[in-house]
Amino acid sequence: MKLFQLLYLLFIVVFFGCNSSKKENEIEDQANRNKSSEQYLTILGVAQDVGYPQIDCEKECCKLVYNGVDDKEMVSSLGLVDLKSNKKWLFDATPDIAQQLHNLKKNHLDNGNVIDGIFLTHAHIGHYTGLMFLGREALGGKQIPVYAMSRMKSFLETNGPWEQLVELENIKLNALKNDSTIILNKNLKVKPFKVPHRDEYSETVGYKIEGKKKSALYIPDIDKWNKWERNIIDEVKKVDYAFLDATFFKEGELSRPMSEVPHPFIQETINLFEKESAETKSKIYFIHLNHTNPALLDNSKLKDSIQNLGYHFAKQGANFEL
Ligand SMILES: [Zn+2]
Ligand SMILES: [Zn+2]
Ligand SMILES: [Zn+2]
Repeated sequence: MKLFQLLYLLFIVVFFGCNSSKKENEIEDQANRNKSSEQYLTILGVAQDVGYPQIDCEKECCKLVYNGVDDKEMVSSLGLVDLKSNKKWLFDATPDIAQQLHNLKKNHLDNGNVIDGIFLTHAHIGHYTGLMFLGREALGGKQIPVYAMSRMKSFLETNGPWEQLVELENIKLNALKNDSTIILNKNLKVKPFKVPHRDEYSETVGYKIEGKKKSALYIPDIDKWNKWERNIIDEVKKVDYAFLDATFFKEGELSRPMSEVPHPFIQETINLFEKESAETKSKIYFIHLNHTNPALLDNSKLKDSIQNLGYHFAKQGANFEL
């Protein structure tokens, strides 16, 4: 079975093509998951740190966007919406934050606040630099709550231009502790947990987000599953949705050594979960895709074949009840 799946994927990688109705069904399927709950997550972006297309990429992947064939994708981020308490939160402050907060306001909740809180995962450019738009040159925010782990917090407090946001009180930093639960209200809880990653400027966390009925994991960046002290299979089984790092599809995707930027390849994640039930596989939503990842293309047979194995791809605009 394993060999068959690999051969099938290999075949598809070589011959990926178009299937537009699949894309529409997929959005509908994901969107239908929300409406019965007042608390839900919404996908605000699915690309790796720098978005899609990538700067100066002359290859086929990004030409498709520059030539108007494929759609642009914003950087990975989740919105958390609570219609009951009239509040909304953001996971990661990406370079696309202006559009993402607009989408959150227009499509979900306009409560008079630009955002009620931002949870940061780490200090790589796609995950925190959106904070700059909260400062004096842009929004001029007033004490917007930003939740960060200790190294991330002191990085922001001691380096320009971020320290100015703190001094001018555009943002108000709240310290997070590994594995400790933040109770947002009686229906929503958030828990950060450390994961292994290239921690040059900060530690890296993933988040568990728990509602009354359902829960989710958000791990946009991790080096490799086997470097983590926890077992990703067990962690996925404990939740209803798992938004997992899918930066690259497979080894050899970059022309530079990929060991410099380790991530679990989609191929590795699929192999790891191969013997798991269809129910477990169906909880996985791949997110944080690099421009080189063939599964980022809207209508690729590669993506279809992975979905046919039971997995999902996070899609901007899709909602998930909690
Ligand atoms: Zn990232
Ligand atoms: Zn590209
Ligand atoms: Zn990172």
